[in-house]
Amino acid sequence: MRSVDDLIAEGVSGRRVLLRADLNVPLDKKTGAITDDGRIRASLPTLQALREAGARVVVAAHLGRPKGTPDPQFSLAPVAARLGELLGTTVPLAADVAGEDAREKAAALGDGDVLLLENVRFEAAETSKDDAERGALADRLAALADVYVDDAFGAVHRAHASVFDVAERIPHSAGRLVARELEVLTRLTTEPERPYVVVLGGSKVSDKLAVIEALLPKVDRLLVGGGMCFTFLAAQGHGVGKSLLEVDQVETCRRLLAEAGDRIVLPVDVVCTPEFSADAPTTTVPVDAIPDDQMGLDVGPRTVELFGTTLGDARTVFWNGPMGVFELAPFQAGTRGVAQAVSAVDGLSVVGGGDSAAAVRALGLDESAYGHISTGGGASLEYLEGRDLPGLAVLAD
Ligand code: ADP
Ligand code: MG
Repeated sequence: MRSVDDLIAEGVSGRRVLLRADLNVPLDKKTGAITDDGRIRASLPTLQALREAGARVVVAAHLGRPKGTPDPQFSLAPVAARLGELLGTTVPLAADVAGEDAREKAAALGDGDVLLLENVRFEAAETSKDDAERGALADRLAALADVYVDDAFGAVHRAHASVFDVAERIPHSAGRLVARELEVLTRLTTEPERPYVVVLGGSKVSDKLAVIEALLPKVDRLLVGGGMCFTFLAAQGHGVGKSLLEVDQVETCRRLLAEAGDRIVLPVDVVCTPEFSADAPTTTVPVDAIPDDQMGLDVGPRTVELFGTTLGDARTVFWNGPMGVFELAPFQAGTRGVAQAVSAVDGLSVVGGGDSAAAVRALGLDESAYGHISTGGGASLEYLEGRDLPGLAVLAD
């Protein structure tokens, strides 16, 4: 796989580079302000290197899930402003993805300038299943530049026009973020130092069952918290009240528990509440005493202790998914405790997942205490599962 540094060494001054970046940041629902700019900051090293080398950079990115048509709610305008602040320059935003305005603005770029295209998902073709539709958009994107650099690690598991098809059309290389993510994931998958412990949380168990299945033979311990633990607890025969439960996955969880022996470690206590709210009363109960009319929104202190002990002698840790609804103050302690235990690991500690990374920052924890904070949740999980990621495969060609 060619890297952006190979491209820079070859000479990129005056050339137009289409840079696919992952700028998919969370926005405040009411004000539209960026609540966590981690992904923008993670994109800076490649962008700055290209600017310093005199490239004319055209950045393509997506934000949220618009329905394939322009929607002001998903405009990249706040991202262009923040990117400009961080780079110390003005970053103009094209009014379209790869239309007339994008072409004009791309043609007007000087050496070291940066242009941001409007949300690529404003074009239905971006995510289309139809090769010809995606190809037509990829043609227009490719026409904006001489070479393509993919630094959008969070999107490499998608066969989208701006991630996959465009790379087939012009010379391509991997950005520094993608290279760094791959380096870390390779360390996790090739002879990790043991004990190797994986911590999984978050909300959807069905999303992560395939990962659990693929990881079980490889890990020494798998700790399960977050909303997904209740399907496992139900599989053990516990009542879970109004907690998140995926009834159709209970049987699979039961089989996984049987196969795993004591390698899957589940919570022993949970923080319950009658209502999904920051003001509702909370009680902490053992997992065999969850009241029928309450829901578990965090793991309890005995679980934090148990998970902490299990992580204590680990030499390699991968953590994905918050342990509770960390967005609400009464349900932060589990995620905070586990995040701290992960950061204290003597060895390689990796945090993967948009919400998990955001939790580390929102809880005011020290980012530099981790070996790596991955920007891509789905992408890193699919990589660990051993799946082929289209956005990476196309760069290797
Ligand atoms: P990531 O983005 O790190 O991969 P996910 O998207 O899978 O993580 O899950 C994050 C979400 O899971 C958070 O919004 C959090 O509030 C939610 N969550 C965690 N624990 C629970 C729980 N017990 N009940 C409901 N939601 C939960
Ligand atoms: Mg998420």
